[in-house]
Amino acid sequence: MIRATTFAGKTVAVFGLGGSGTLAVQSLLAGGATVAAWDDSEAGRVVAAQAGVPLVDLTSADWRQFSALVLAPGVPLTHPQPHWTVAKAKAASVEIIGDVEIFARERRALAADAPFIAITGTNGKSTTTALVSHILRHAGYDVQMGGNIGRAILSLEAPAARRFHVIEMSSFQIDLTPTLHPTVGVLLNVTPDHLDRHGTIDNYAGVKERLVAGAAVASIGVDDAYCVDILKRRLAQGPAVAFSAKKSLAPGYSMLSTEVVCANRDGLAVKLGNLAGISTLRGAHNAQNALAAISAVREALAIIGLPTDLDWQGALSSFGGLAHRMEEIGNLGSILFINDSKATNADSSEKALLSFPRDCYWILGGKPKDGGIETLAPYFSGVTKAYLIGDATEEFARTLDGKVPFERCGTLDIAVAAATRDAQAASAEVPVVLLSPACASYDQFKNFEVRGDTFRALVAKLPGITMRQRT
Ligand code: ADP
Repeated sequence: MIRATTFAGKTVAVFGLGGSGTLAVQSLLAGGATVAAWDDSEAGRVVAAQAGVPLVDLTSADWRQFSALVLAPGVPLTHPQPHWTVAKAKAASVEIIGDVEIFARERRALAADAPFIAITGTNGKSTTTALVSHILRHAGYDVQMGGNIGRAILSLEAPAARRFHVIEMSSFQIDLTPTLHPTVGVLLNVTPDHLDRHGTIDNYAGVKERLVAGAAVASIGVDDAYCVDILKRRLAQGPAVAFSAKKSLAPGYSMLSTEVVCANRDGLAVKLGNLAGISTLRGAHNAQNALAAISAVREALAIIGLPTDLDWQGALSSFGGLAHRMEEIGNLGSILFINDSKATNADSSEKALLSFPRDCYWILGGKPKDGGIETLAPYFSGVTKAYLIGDATEEFARTLDGKVPFERCGTLDIAVAAATRDAQAASAEVPVVLLSPACASYDQFKNFEVRGDTFRALVAKLPGITMRQRT
């Protein structure tokens, strides 16, 4: 655990006592601060008190005693309206921060040169964060990965020279981190998302921009208009590199067919690795993630004076991928089973349909999002048959009607059985049974992970199946 020594002797309010909030309390206490912690949920307070968290009723506390309010990232800062703790902190001129800010201050105090890669974007954050970590570990470096993925940041080892912190950040976390200042800040892409929490797309893009604005080097994907503008502004202020999965850049990182290349201003390019045949990096979206990861690692190594000639190909080829994201889970003869349970909206399922453009036995449905799957119509021609589950069944049946054969299956077990039966009867070379629901899972499952694990368990029971182990 990282001790928050920069708050020693101060009194700090902490609100939101989930995993990261409770760790923030422990980190602050270990660093010598006095803590006043609270949560709106009584059940949450009981659990926290049992873990030794010092509770103080912040509704009636004197806020002038606090040096800072440490807020959990799920608590509304601005939209739809500021949480009551935010109003109280502002009224008493108390700064509002999150756990990543505690880390950033600790890093500056302990080891200001410790390599720190922060990653954000609307999509691909987790994959890129995992890939950056994997490339660095493959090269033998000490890597601490966390933030919005895996472990809460304050549970990691403390910053140190040559120890890489690779941190995924949501826009909510960036909002709470005024002095992030990573070695490399990565911005993958910006598309409308979470507007309920950020008001407008301009506000949302502005929050994302802050992650790269304070970085020693910024690495920015330029495949959308917001990021193109962000790169222009950044270049006027400090070092930045660009990457694109769609066009050739010089200077910058881009794809030459399936090859990742980095070109200088004169167009002179070095080849860094080939994505062909790497099942965990299928699709143009993963090309963007690979470009982001390679650029981040290369720029970070260069800035701290370490060799940049890594075994990129070896690292890319051995990347295990992340569970529930176009994850190859097994084979039954020539049939490939893909778990893409993380695809909770049509945009995400589009990536899977693009990556498996033919002979697809597509299991979808759940709690539908606005717009349903209308936008996926251009890819229906690659779908041999669709298997519908959950609340979305009738809505999706209307969209598919006359375009793709479909079956109302109701539940995932029935869908897996039906899709496997049909794929086995087909003459296709590599039929793909794809769970890519384009829906939230909450109507039938606790979350997308449970949905994906259920799919995996059902597939594992099929007679003759060969399952892949998770890495
Ligand atoms: P995040 O952490 O930002 O939610 P993940 O890496 O977990 O992203 O990927 C989640 C889903 O988002 C994937 O299953 C895929 O459908 C889609 N996705 C991943 N990377 C990208 C990208 N670079 N651009 C667009 N969509 C992506």
